[in-house]
Order: sequence, then C-alpha cells, then structure tokens
Amino acid sequence: MIRLLSPQTINRIAAGEVIERPAAAVKELVENALDAGAARIEIILAGGGIARIEVIDDGCGIQRDELALAIERHATSKLRDESLVRIATLGFRGEALPSIGAAAKLTLISRPAGQDCAYKITVAGGMVSPVSPAAAPAGTRAIVEELFYATPARRKFLRTPHAEGDAAERAVWRLALSAPDVAFRLVSDERVLFDVARQSEPARIAALFGRDTAAAMLPLNAAREGVTLTGLAGPASLSRATTGLQSFVVNNRPVADPLLRMALRLAYRDVIAAGRHPVAALRLEIPAEALDVNVHPAKTELRFADANGIRSLVIGAISRLLERPISLAGAPPARPNTPRLALQPAPSAAARGFAEAELELLTAPAARSFMPEPSGHPLGAPVAQILDTYILAVAADGALVIIDQHAAHERLTEERLRAEFLAGQVVAQPLLLPVVVDLPPSDASRLLGHGEALRRLGLDIEAFGPGAILVRGVPAALKNPDAGALLRDLADEFAEAGTPIALEARLDSALARLACHRSIRAGRRLTQEEMSALMRGMEATPRAATCSHGRPTFLKLSRAELETMFGRRGM
Ligand code: ADP
Ligand code: MG
Repeated sequence: MIRLLSPQTINRIAAGEVIERPAAAVKELVENALDAGAARIEIILAGGGIARIEVIDDGCGIQRDELALAIERHATSKLRDESLVRIATLGFRGEALPSIGAAAKLTLISRPAGQDCAYKITVAGGMVSPVSPAAAPAGTRAIVEELFYATPARRKFLRTPHAEGDAAERAVWRLALSAPDVAFRLVSDERVLFDVARQSEPARIAALFGRDTAAAMLPLNAAREGVTLTGLAGPASLSRATTGLQSFVVNNRPVADPLLRMALRLAYRDVIAAGRHPVAALRLEIPAEALDVNVHPAKTELRFADANGIRSLVIGAISRLLERPISLAGAPPARPNTPRLALQPAPSAAARGFAEAELELLTAPAARSFMPEPSGHPLGAPVAQILDTYILAVAADGALVIIDQHAAHERLTEERLRAEFLAGQVVAQPLLLPVVVDLPPSDASRLLGHGEALRRLGLDIEAFGPGAILVRGVPAALKNPDAGALLRDLADEFAEAGTPIALEARLDSALARLACHRSIRAGRRLTQEEMSALMRGMEATPRAATCSHGRPTFLKLSRAELETMFGRRGM
C-alpha cells in the first residue's frame, strides 16, 4: 500500500540529512544568526552539543506571529528569487529549524527591535507548543536540547561528546572566518574556546590560525573572468599533518568543496611532502549565476559553471606565490645595526680534504667571526662542506645556514627544465645509437599516448613493436640518463593520470623525475666555487626552499634561535 508520510515522519527523515550531528545544528543556527544581520553571535555548548546547543544573536529577530511559521517545513523569509540563481543568504531551503525540531527539543526566543517583549516557541520531537511571552534582549536565542532523543537510530551514530564538540568548534571556526565583521564567542562546557571582536579579515585569520602562522602566510590576490580570489596562503615550510588549517569561503559562505581542496593540494603538490598539508585561508567571489550552492542539503559543496577556470585561478595564483625567491619568502631582513665584519672566506674544503675542513670548523668560532657583509645574498657565504653532503654557510644577518646539496641541486635542475619546457625550448639530444626499452605493454602504450607531451620535455620516443619503445633522443640537460630507468619512472608517473589536470600535474612530476636523474649526488665533494654557484642559483630560483619531494633544501638557524637554544634568552 502506498501512502503519504506524516509531516512528522518527513521532518525526521529530513532531519537525518540536514542535521547529521551537533556540528550541523550549530552551523545552521549560526547561519541563521548571520542571515539575520547579527553583529555579535555567542555559541554555548554542553556535552559536545549533544546535551545542549545555545546560539544567541543580536540580529533582526522573528516577529511574534511568524514564530510558528519559522519552524514549519519549507518556510523561509529568504528566498526572493525562486529561480535559485541569486542566493545572497546562507539559508534558503527553510528546513533547518523544522529538522532540528523533529530530532530534538528546540526553543526559539526572539524579539525584533521595537517589539515590547520577546516571544517564545518550543517544538519537541515535532510537537509544537503555543507561543508565549518571555523576557529577552533584542535578537534571537535558539536552544537545542537532547539532540536526536526523538531519533535513537541517529543517536547511536554520534561519537563521543569530545569528538562532537571538536566538530562543532570546527564549524564555528569556519563560519567565524567567513564573517570577520561579526564578533564570535564560543563556549564549550564552560571553557571559552574563542572570543573574537568584529575585525578585519587579516586580523580574524590571525586570531583563528594563530598569530605566528598568519604572520608567515603570504597575501593572495588574483582575478579571472569576473571571479576574484583573495586571502592568505602559507609557504611550503608551514605545512601541517592535517588539513585543519584550511578555510575556503565562497561568496561569504564557508565551504568544504572537493574541487577547491583538490586545487589547493595540486598547487602545493611538488613543494610539500606527501601526507603533509598546506595552510590557507582563501576567499572567492563568483558571480551568482556561475555558481550553484543547492547541490547538497548542508550547502557546503558547490557546482561551478566553469570548474576548470576556478581550478586554474587557485592553482595559478598559489603557484605564483610559491615561486617568489627565497629572499622574499623566507629570510628575515638583516637588522641595520648588525656589526659588519668582512667575510674571510674559508679556503676550499675540497682542496684540503675533509679532516682538515672539520678541524677548521671546530677552531673557527674561536679564531674569528664569520660575519659576512650584507651582500644581498640571503643564504650568505659558504664556509665549509660537511660529510660531502651538506654546505655550511653564514647568512648576512649572522644566521647559520645548512644546505642539502642534492636536494638543492635537484630543485634547480627541475626549475630549469620547467622554464625550458614552458618556453618550449627543451633541447633534445639525439642519441647516436637509439635505445630500445622493453616495458609492460600497458606502460608502453601509455607513454606513447603521451608522446607529444614527452617530446616537449625533450624525450623523443616511438613504438617498437608491442611492449617496446625506441628512444631516439633525451633532454640534453640530463647528460646521459639511463633511458630504461627514466621511461619506467615516467610510466609510473603516468599510470595515475586520467584527466588533463592530472596530466599537467604528472608532467610536473615528470620534470621532477628528470631532475632527479641529473642532480649532483650527496657524497660528491664540491669546490668553494661550486658551493657558491649552487647557493646563488638557489636564491635566483623559484620554489628553491624545498626539493621536488617537499623536503627542505636548507635549514636556517637565526641568531635569535641560536640564542634561545643556548639559553641566552627566554623562550
Ligand atoms: P532558512 O534559513 O533556510 O530560511 P530555517 O529553518 O533555518 O530556514 O529558518 C526559517 C526562518 O526562520 C528563516 O527564514 C528566518 O526568517 C527565521 N529565522 C531563523 N533563525 C533566525 C534568527 N536567528 N534571526 C532571525 N530570523 C530567524
Ligand atoms: Mg537557516
């Protein structure tokens, strides 16, 4: 027998979609407060929000005779344009309050400015009580008690109050980043988690990301076809173990959109190690008609009319940011009153052998000061090579710099290949004797399928029967690579490639691969001139602070850090 469901059941079903956990209820209530034009929002949680959620705002309030309507399904004051094109508010579906009221006990106490007193309405498990007068200041107070008491099946899926509280905090964190001009206070089990005044966007990011982190982030500003991207993005060195310090705001709406997350990941792909995550607070403004926010009941995923354009905008802007040379991205400016002692260059370590260089290093601090003149070289001057692997240098501001010669050179080579590649100028070196490489047939056909792209990388290949490839030329910059190893590496890289964007990223890794095949190895002794050349090259090369696998190419211990480590000044 087919029958229509009762409104109560419909609401309970919807509640499962809109309000899947306390964080979702918190999000909906705070969005309502923002839509009401609040200047200040306070959120009070008990038991991770499972026991109680209270959201208090000083917004426009709800008229007495509209209170009952507010908790009705599909009742909204917000949807002016029923074509769903220009949605300026966070809410528009009119289902949050009835859903919460179906799953929990919801009390609304509201007083529009100018109304003589507040009025209150309660709905518990879908049962509505009559409207009654109450005492409250102007604005709205929403109280949710015993979430999911009416839907035990859902309650079973809740995690611990601690975990639910974390998720709710995260939801408020994202909303607070989306609306810096609104004051937010969040209290959980009587602990004040944050309390931020109305402020500028950079100040809000500093308050919610942490002052030191925000100070190290770089401002972004890009536009493309009516879409603007602003915000702050961290340098590669700020990477984190989780995506916790990533915020995306699109048309004032905080979102967790997969496309944007992926674009961010790709932008940092070859400066951050696998498993690490960049730090970023991004804001996009997109013309309303180029965006659909009505993809999911929680409205956190979007559909972009021009997904590729958005992706390129994000990846392009961040890549340009990361390409800033070391002198802009990392090194603090030399203090003007730094004593200036002339550098006395160390004699070439290579010329004297390792034991002597080590001795030199041990006696040097006592014997003389390596305080180079501020030379415009942020990495300073090389002092010695250690273990034939690291270069020890002293920077203009007295900081100690240790460089991983292989990692640094690999990045330099990669960037050079990339520049040649982008300029269409990779020099291919024809092989006197073409080499035949045997590969699994699927790898061979995949490589041949990208033959044109590989040719632009200087790699000239053609089919040579099933499962074999004839290599006619290699990128000249590689000197004499092992063609077999190179092709197998490239085949691995291409194995995951599906969409064009992935291929682009793959070409990037291919460049990294090529660079790795060419770079000076750890364990090679360098002359003073080679060390200097490598360091000057790093300063002139985009993204030289990390190698293509995301490991740092150099470490820097500032004078202040040395003083702290030696206990010369407080932490
Ligand atoms: P939506 O936000 O999609 O409109 P809701 O169920 O969240 O749906 O809210 C229903 C209506 O209740 C809103 O359209 C609004 O008119 C009113 N409302 C809810 N919360 C508030 C609030 N904090 N201040 C003022 N009005 C509110
Ligand atoms: Mg709403």
